[in-house]
Amino acid sequence: MSDPDKNWPRLEPIKTGIDGRCPRCGVGHLFAGFLALARACDHCGLSFDFADPADGPAFFVICFGCVPAVTFALMLEIWLSPPLLVQLLVNGPVLLLFCLAPLRQLKGWLVCSQFYFKAGEGRIGKPWRPYGPDGPVVMPRK
Ligand SMILES: [Zn+2]
Repeated sequence: MSDPDKNWPRLEPIKTGIDGRCPRCGVGHLFAGFLALARACDHCGLSFDFADPADGPAFFVICFGCVPAVTFALMLEIWLSPPLLVQLLVNGPVLLLFCLAPLRQLKGWLVCSQFYFKAGEGRIGKPWRPYGPDGPVVMPRK
């Protein structure tokens, strides 16, 4: 493990995310499986507990992967009208390629962007009185 107090360079999330590397050091592995995140970086020890890309990767795959794949399938049917077996043999791999191939890179990019931009839940730093000085006060969490 490297020194956790070291000043780390700010790495571009697009580079580290697509490579599946740690957003802090750029060397350690981000993933423990195809889409499962590792618990921590195996090089610098950064915990990946902050990472929560939620449905972000799926959203991008739906927008930029599924639409072209389904468009391709429809165009294949309209232009060539091949038998059903050919449709399955051609469109099945095309759908898998367009949908599964970019998922890991997109998840890596979103997790690294979350680290880079320090995205997380909103917090308040001092007592907040949203209804004026005599109203109820919201205290910051400790
Ligand atoms: Zn690291």
